[in-house]
Amino acid sequence: MRTPLIAGNWKMNGSTALINAFGDTFATATLPANIDVVVIPPFPYLDAARHAFQNTPLQLGAQTLNPQHSGAHTGEISGRMLKEFDVTYVLVGHSERRQLYQETDAQVFNRLVAALDVGLTPILCVGETLEERDAGRTMDVVLRQVGHAMARLEPVQRLQIVIAYEPVWAIGTGRTATPKQAQEVMAGIRSYQAGFDVSLAEQLKLLYGGSMNASNAAELLAQPDIDGGLVGGASLKTDDFYAICQSAG
Ligand code: PEP
Repeated sequence: MRTPLIAGNWKMNGSTALINAFGDTFATATLPANIDVVVIPPFPYLDAARHAFQNTPLQLGAQTLNPQHSGAHTGEISGRMLKEFDVTYVLVGHSERRQLYQETDAQVFNRLVAALDVGLTPILCVGETLEERDAGRTMDVVLRQVGHAMARLEPVQRLQIVIAYEPVWAIGTGRTATPKQAQEVMAGIRSYQAGFDVSLAEQLKLLYGGSMNASNAAELLAQPDIDGGLVGGASLKTDDFYAICQSAG
């Protein structure tokens, strides 16, 4: 049985006021039993968030990490530092990092290993562009990204990773993959993992991301291989994010 996970990626948005609003809302909100909910604010808000979320079920995530633990890397943040702020999840290979900051599959792998080394749960993001989908290359692209990131890991490490399938054309566009399109790719990822280990594939947590909102979440989350959501825009509104969490119960 895979525990549903809803993760809100704030990207470069938010404020201390929004952190406090989430703390207040989720301190009194009743969430479905047995789901995990993670808020992923920008780095400067992590400390405020860990205090504001103390009496809530919200867990804390970070948006990226440097592959090194420390050193001369001006402007970067390490996994060890994130752990000091009670961060438990970290996004790795988000398409905005891949596209805007030229993160390669090799760098994604190094970040993944760094996260696992310090005991953070990486949320590995994969997904195809519209051009790649139109060319019929969706599965090739997605499995290449998954393979680069995971093939060299030990089975025990693979078990600790969450994968978010996020079609690039659906991120921030208001255009969501249909439940059928999302399910097809998620089933493909799970069956690829089953090639390594069937029981591991069964346990692997798969999230859908790409314009998930309060109206479409329930139908997406009802798909057999979708275990949760990675939510961008809709995670910036307490009510919408709360409604998505309710759909995961
Ligand atoms: C994301 O940034 O991971 C994302 C899914 O964004 P949005 O929900 O805004 O499409």
